[in-house]
Amino acid sequence: MGLSVIESTDEKLLWKKQLSSLVSDPVELCKLLELNGQDTSTLKQVCEQFPLRVPMPYLERMEKGNLRDPLLMQVLPQGQELIETPGYTADPLEEAKFVPVKGLLHKYHGRVLVVMNGSCAIHCRYCFRRHFPYQEHQIGQVQWQSILEYIASDESIEEVIFSGGDPLTCTDSMLAKRCEDLQNIRHISRLRLHTRLPVMIPSRVNETCLSWMTASRLQVVMVIHANHAQEIDAETGSALQRLVKAGVTVLNQAVLLKGINDNADVLAQLCKILFVYGVLPYYLHLFDPVQGAAHFNVEEQRALEIREELQAALPGYLVPKLVVELAHRLNKTAL
Ligand SMILES: *Cc1c(COP(=O)(O)O)cnc(C)c1O
Ligand code: SF4
Repeated sequence: MGLSVIESTDEKLLWKKQLSSLVSDPVELCKLLELNGQDTSTLKQVCEQFPLRVPMPYLERMEKGNLRDPLLMQVLPQGQELIETPGYTADPLEEAKFVPVKGLLHKYHGRVLVVMNGSCAIHCRYCFRRHFPYQEHQIGQVQWQSILEYIASDESIEEVIFSGGDPLTCTDSMLAKRCEDLQNIRHISRLRLHTRLPVMIPSRVNETCLSWMTASRLQVVMVIHANHAQEIDAETGSALQRLVKAGVTVLNQAVLLKGINDNADVLAQLCKILFVYGVLPYYLHLFDPVQGAAHFNVEEQRALEIREELQAALPGYLVPKLVVELAHRLNKTAL
């Protein structure tokens, strides 16, 4: 008995340990990755607006000394973030008007999105949520009850999406409880999680996590987020495989990012490695014009060329849908 209990406790704790020892000091990041000659005072100034945050298991996949590393480029603060760009706003999607109850977004038919918490294991510099004030807050029990009442009162809702921030930074006991609350509502048939954690900290996908997902009557869908094949190392692959084997439908969404994956070969590699582990490409997002991230922008014309090349290179089921989210549209818009 002893050994298995110790093992399961270790396994339970590992992801929490990794989540609480994130790299958040730009000087430390540069030292770990042997990046010399960085202007640390600018880095620090940028971090005051949107802090640096990288988990170690992700950092370990980066190439030392390479400022063009596609994983590093997603997290390294840049002086350009301080430049104001016309047409780029703090809330490009004007989401505030689709919030009937605090913490719940109801914009699309049949689906609601619950902002479970505001914290992520990583801070992606292009994130459109970078300006939201809800950094560390979590939905409390009272707020959750109001959300449940709203969902129960609208029979057109079939699917609940746990989003954030990253919902998998919440504990399994909380997630299991909320999943149970939802499955008691008869018109809910699907639970979806929008999360980057299986890619950032693969140990998050442990037995405890799989057990509540498997036990639910709800069909569980997970939409992960990876932008480059180098993000999917063996450990991440094995985490994704565990999810798929447990019956979870796992899909990937990527964001088209200049200098990182604005190239059909790079994206084709990503789609293929995802499928090795049973994950299907879902969306390829044209980037939201969020203030401070203009340097990642890929022109629409270029995006369409990339899609053509992807369609020529891959089987149809491995080609993600190229979409853009427009503030006034009640679904994502295909280009
Ligand atoms: C993206 C999004 C969804 C999910 O849309 P799908 O097309 O089903 O993936 C739901 N609600 C909101 C507000 C969204 O932005
Ligand atoms: S994980 Fe998602 S929500 Fe979190 S910072 Fe990155 S893009 Fe934004």
